[in-house]
Amino acid sequence: MYTCQNCGKKIDDVEKFVTCPYCGHKIITKERPPLAKKVQAV
Ligand SMILES: [Zn+2]
Repeated sequence: MYTCQNCGKKIDDVEKFVTCPYCGHKIITKERPPLAKKVQAV
């Protein structure tokens, strides 16, 4: 999942788009899914 830094739209297949398919912005950043990374030793 990627997010356009201009319009904020989420882009699934960024490899198909060099730029944002919505607004044409060229800055698309990878967005990590909000996984709860809790590694705790008991
Ligand atoms: Zn955009």
